[in-house]
Amino acid sequence: MEKTGRFIVRRDGGCVICGGKEHLQVHHLRKRSQQGSHRVGNQVALCEDCHDDVHAGLIDLPITDGAQ
Ligand SMILES: [Zn+2]
Ligand SMILES: [Zn+2]
Repeated sequence: MEKTGRFIVRRDGGCVICGGKEHLQVHHLRKRSQQGSHRVGNQVALCEDCHDDVHAGLIDLPITDGAQ
C-alpha cells in the first residue's frame, strides 16, 4: 500500500464501517471529478467488503471533508 494509504489506515485504525483490520483499502470520499482531492481528509480506510458495498450504493459514507 502506498505511503498515504498507510497513514489513512493508521489514522482510522481499521475499516471506518465495521472496524475490520483485514484487506484494508483507501476510499476517496469525493471523486476527483467531483472536486475531490488526494488530501488525506478526502480519504478513509475501508475493508474490501465494505468498500464494495459503498461502491454498490449499499452504504452511505458521511462526507466530512467540507470543513478542512
Ligand atoms: Zn468493513
Ligand atoms: Zn472506493
